[in-house]
Formats: sequence, C-alpha cells, structure tokens
Amino acid sequence: MLDIAAIRAQFPILTAPTAGQPLIYLDSAASTQQPISVMAAIADYHRGHHANIHRGVYRLSRTATRLHEAARERVAQFLNAAEPVECLFTRGATESINLVAATWGRANLQPGDEILISTLEHHSNIVPWQLIAATTGAQIRVIPINDAGELDRDAYRHQLSPRTRLVAINQVSNALGTINPVAELIAEAHAVGALVLIDGAQWVAHGKTDMQALDADFYVFSGHKLYGPTGIGVLYGKRRLLEAMPPYQGGGDMIERVTFEQTTYAGLPNRFEAGTPHISGAVGLAAAIDWIESLGFDAIGAHEQALLQQATARLMQIPGLEIKGTAQHKSGVISWVMTDPPLATLDIGTALDLRGICIRTGHHCCQPLMERLGVSSTARASFGVYNTAEEVAALAAALSVIRDAAA
Ligand code: PLP
Repeated sequence: MLDIAAIRAQFPILTAPTAGQPLIYLDSAASTQQPISVMAAIADYHRGHHANIHRGVYRLSRTATRLHEAARERVAQFLNAAEPVECLFTRGATESINLVAATWGRANLQPGDEILISTLEHHSNIVPWQLIAATTGAQIRVIPINDAGELDRDAYRHQLSPRTRLVAINQVSNALGTINPVAELIAEAHAVGALVLIDGAQWVAHGKTDMQALDADFYVFSGHKLYGPTGIGVLYGKRRLLEAMPPYQGGGDMIERVTFEQTTYAGLPNRFEAGTPHISGAVGLAAAIDWIESLGFDAIGAHEQALLQQATARLMQIPGLEIKGTAQHKSGVISWVMTDPPLATLDIGTALDLRGICIRTGHHCCQPLMERLGVSSTARASFGVYNTAEEVAALAAALSVIRDAAA
C-alpha cells in the first residue's frame, strides 16, 4: 500500500492552493508533476556541477560528464537494457521516433516495404512514418481496432508479411488508456522478420519495463511523463541496429574526425547525440527514476487501477455521459463525451477548471483515432500516483453538476 498523503507532500504544486482552490490535477498523461527530489537534483546540478561535458579536462567538466553518463546507466538499469550505450538521450518520445524514422528508415526502406502502425497511435507515431514513406516509397498500413479500443489481433496477423519491415505501436494509448499486449505483438512481428518500435510514453510511469524480456528493437519514452523534466527523453535501440544506422544530426560530439573532404563518426551513443545535450535534464530524469522505483510498480499499478475502477463506476452513473474506450486492459486514463445534453468537451474542460480540476480536452494528438470513434474530441482524465479517491469523487460530482446545469 502506498502512503498517498506522504507522496503528495513531495509535490509542492499539489499542496499549495492555485487561485485559492486546491489543485485537482488529472492530466498526468500529458505531463506528470515533479517531486521535490527531482527539482533538488536539477538545482544541485546547476548550483555546484554545471559545465559542458565530454571535452573538458578540468574537474568540473569531468564531474558533469560523469553525472550525465551515470544518468544513462540509470536509464539502462531502469529499462533492463543489455548495455548503457543502447540508451540514447533525445528531447522526448517524439524526437526518438523521428530519429528512427529518419536514420533507420532512410537506410532500410524502399518501395514495396510496409510500415505497420495502429489506429491508436499518437501523431508522433504516425507523421514521422509518413515523412519517411514519402521519401522512400514505403507504404503505411494501419491495424484496425474494435469499438472498445482494442487492436484487432486477427487483422494484425493477416497484415504481417515479409513486406513488413517495421511495426510501430504504442504500449498504452494516451487517448483511451488501452494497454496493448506488446510482448505478443513483438513475437508475431519477429516471426515474419519485421522490427518493432514500441512507444512507451504512456507506460513507463505505470509498470515495469524490461527490454531484454520484451525483445523490442526500439523503445521510446519522455521524461516529463515519468515525474521528470521536459526536454529529455530516451531512445532505446538494440546495439547492432543502432551501430548500423547512419547519424541523425551532424555537429559537435558525434564525430570521430572531421576534414572538409570527409567526416567519420563517433561510436555509440555519441554518434546520435550531436551538440550539447540537456545535461540537467538527464540528471533530473535519473532522479525521477530513483523516485518512482522507490515506490514500486506493483503498488503504483494497484493504486492507479483502483482510481480507474472508481472513476469508471462513477462516470457511468452520469446520464448522457458516454465513456470512449472500454478495453479489458486499461491504464489510468478515462475518456468521455457528453451526448445528452450535448456538451462540447471544451466547455466541460473549462467548467471543470473553474472548480480547480485539470483535465484535457480535444483530439489528444490522435485525430485518426477520433475519426474511428466518430467524435472530434473527448474529455480525458488521467491519473498519476499522487491522485486520490477524493479527487475522483470531486470530478464525478462536478461533472454531474455541469451536466444538470446544461440539461
Ligand atoms: N506517444 C504517446 C502515446 C504520447 O502520449 C505522447 C505525448 O502525449 C507522445 C508520444 C509524445 O511525447 P512528447 O511530446 O513528450 O515527445
């Protein structure tokens, strides 16, 4: 059992009233809040250890380099990657996917090849593939879903073929919360010789992640959805794949030797980390990993599932409210629309904000999914480890009031 009061006490933003009201923050799928240990690690770095890394001979630079590389080791341990060099720092999940599309895609895709994505994808796992498909002549195919928001496994098996070069799917849908059976999907893709990229942006804060057990070829996530800072994320890739990929961006740090005639490139991980990296971001991400692991994923999962069940039961009782996404396996995300009386999701979000409740409304960067669901947007509440049963009850009560006022 988690001590939620003790956890909340570590989040200044949750304990200080905003505009005279307590903050009910139900938008952790967009960005989690940060505990003080993460803020302290970042402040500590800036106060006493900041310098540019890798090239400095002086002690301060060597310390900053050590902290940056220690963060990489911490990420590798967190993901159970075989080696730290398989974990590259990026700006976030979006950049990680773009990196794979631009470099692996450019080197490996040709006309006739297929990239398989799903209806559940975030735009960041759609558009990079469209960009590379347009330049290589590869085709994008889309795995359909059922009305509950679950992948159609039979269709997936039929779509997989020797033409499939890469399957790119999320582990958890940000819009509906569906948890995809990624281990099975990866095994099926590997059986036809395809590689698999898993978008773990919505998973890593909620359950254990193990690269060696999962056997994903690429795995991506963002620090700011894991109780860490913005502007830092990770691309995990199997060493033999990363080593065979051309560089992404050119610049300092990613080279071995530069002449005007020809440049040779550094080995992993520097080859893919051109320019001065987000050093304090890496330090903050390592602190966030320390923090979340100290709570334990079994306890986190149990707490968030209890909140999801409570929210589902309460929202189902509100007349005219329709929950979108009723998959059997869901993370702490609940999406809905109000059909009777019809209420725009924007109005729902604004009315909740007046009561200090933060939810997200809109297409959640999933326009093709919204189209499949027959809506242009949903209202979405998403839970973090700091959320409470009282907050879920406050959401349901406020929604009832808003609904009754409009009826
Ligand atoms: N993938 C999923 C499933 C997401 O939910 C998000 C962000 O909402 C992203 C990718 C993109 O993450 P970022 O904006 O941190 O790059």
